[in-house]
Amino acid sequence: MPAGPRRSIASEFVATAKAMAAATAKATAKATATGEGKHVTTETLEFQSEARQLLQLMIHSIYSNKDIFLRELVSNASDALDKVRLEAFRDKELDADTDDPHIEISTDAEQRTLTVRDNGIGMTRDEVVSLIGTIAKSGTAELLRELKESKDAELIGQFGVGFYASFMVADKVTLVSRRAGTGEGVRWESTGEGTYTVEPADDVSQGTAVTLHLKPVDTEDRLFDYTDPAKLREIVKRYSDFITWPIRMAGESEPETVNSMKALWARPKNEVTEAEYHEFYKHVSHDWADPLETIRLQAEGTFEYQALLFIPSQPPFDLFVRERKRGVQLYVKRVFIMDDCEALVPEYLRFVKGVVDAQDLSLNVSREILQQDRQIQLIRRRLVKKVLSSVKTMLADNADGYPKFWEAFGGVVKEGLLVDQENREAILEICSFGTTRDPDEQVTLRRYAERMKDGQQHIYYLTGESRTAIENSPHMEAFRDRGFEVLVLTDPIDEMWVDTVTEFDGRRFQSIAKGQVDLDPEESTEREQQREDFAPLLGWLTTALADDVKEVRLSSRLTTSPACVVGDTHDVSPTLEKMYRASGQELPRIKRILELNPNHPLVTGLRTAHAERDDKAGLAETAELLYGMALLAEGGDLADPGRFVKLVATRLERTL
Ligand code: ADP
Repeated sequence: MPAGPRRSIASEFVATAKAMAAATAKATAKATATGEGKHVTTETLEFQSEARQLLQLMIHSIYSNKDIFLRELVSNASDALDKVRLEAFRDKELDADTDDPHIEISTDAEQRTLTVRDNGIGMTRDEVVSLIGTIAKSGTAELLRELKESKDAELIGQFGVGFYASFMVADKVTLVSRRAGTGEGVRWESTGEGTYTVEPADDVSQGTAVTLHLKPVDTEDRLFDYTDPAKLREIVKRYSDFITWPIRMAGESEPETVNSMKALWARPKNEVTEAEYHEFYKHVSHDWADPLETIRLQAEGTFEYQALLFIPSQPPFDLFVRERKRGVQLYVKRVFIMDDCEALVPEYLRFVKGVVDAQDLSLNVSREILQQDRQIQLIRRRLVKKVLSSVKTMLADNADGYPKFWEAFGGVVKEGLLVDQENREAILEICSFGTTRDPDEQVTLRRYAERMKDGQQHIYYLTGESRTAIENSPHMEAFRDRGFEVLVLTDPIDEMWVDTVTEFDGRRFQSIAKGQVDLDPEESTEREQQREDFAPLLGWLTTALADDVKEVRLSSRLTTSPACVVGDTHDVSPTLEKMYRASGQELPRIKRILELNPNHPLVTGLRTAHAERDDKAGLAETAELLYGMALLAEGGDLADPGRFVKLVATRLERTL
């Protein structure tokens, strides 16, 4: 696929992300002497600037539902347990403890602390600094800017703040961790105000413990008593019930497991509530909003798998970042294998989140093997069809789901038209476009076809940079006159797919700015006469304007304008040409065709003048002006604006 503006936006995002990652904390290390004369190096480091801003938002609690901090901590702990199991399985040498993987929640009402502990993978000192001290998510800077402007606190939820959510309920957070297989632990602490400390820690058990020093209870601000076991149990049940590792609460006597631990995708469909699906979605996607659509898929028999997929309700910030991750996780027999399994979903469905659990794969599969694996390819084919058909159902249900979907992900789905031959028709079925009929309406191609006027054969479209440019384009005249609806295609990706996709449901896509347009084939005698009358002028003009156009001919597209410029059927459109050049690609100059309106006084006058006058130099200038006007009318650029203005000025002088 050729590069376009979309890609340059993408590379900008990527550049921002890299700059952010590079701007890691500046260290001001100082040695602190402890009681026994033993020296522990405590370093005070600065949060990266985006992290600092995000923390400020958390400290000042812009998000109303504070309970979810616990969901975020449990979610991280669960991921850490997944990771250690997998790593220990793959690396038999790794000295990891995997005997009793679990998450433990404990409280101290007197000290007003709450601790979430896991015996998962843990983090090294450097990991703590890079993972907790910085945000490597692309789009963060944009998000923060948007938040400041819109003051819409809930926007933050789209981003999924994770660990930092702790600062909504705590004024100090301590994290102690030891990575599996390493000897030394690390202790991290911060009030969230600009800096944090890290220091080595002894006698740390494998995994991570996060201790929150809780803010005073303030129920009006939805800041509840998070040392109250009943409250914590309620939160865990609500948000984290499906976590497949035991979440234990230190009770009066025995620790008790609070969650049911059932993998949602393995439970019978009708036993799972919508709320449970939604919480699971938030766990896998790190989104704080509910999904737009939940999709379940089960295959039984020799080759068994389950899938639980979601379509988010909003696009993520990095939808167009090239290196962004895709959202489907792979499990094998309930064991987490990998995030971001690109073998399972094509690029153009990269917004889909969820889980696929396959029964017959080896736990040792690598990304490379997966790409080749026949079972995975079959799963992928079914997932794609299922997602597309789910969207089609949304469309048929006529609710507000589909328009939201299209608004959020339409631009990405259209990429599929370029790469997925097999599902092209299914993709076209769920596309919708703006048209000339009503600027506020988006129509599907099926709807467009149903309301085509008598005598209209093709699906007409015009691509361009904006609706205004398209609507004012002279190419539109005859179509408007006849009441033919024209698709208004302004998305850069539209420029590309229209070159690849030729028809929908047996009807051809026809650009109104390309090729010959024959709206009234029956009027041919009158036109034959015109062609004859204009032949000398057209022949002469084709030579006179040979530097700029490859042909001058009569038009049946125009009613009020004197001229327009059109492309050959297979020519690159002017917008696409601009996109190529903007992305640094060399292109040979593309000459287009000048079409004249045989009923316009300027054109008939030119014909008479050409037949009667000898001053062909003056006429050539008129021809040049005509061509320039046609370019301007479609929103194009003149090769030499200075010369054009001079010619116009001279003509105007003569009229005074
Ligand atoms: P996210 O979970 O959205 O990536 P977080 O800020 O919650 O963002 O966490 C950042 C990273 O820190 C995680 O991706 C993970 O690598 C690491 N991390 C957080 N909590 C833990 C934990 N309990 N155990 C191990 N690693 C963790």
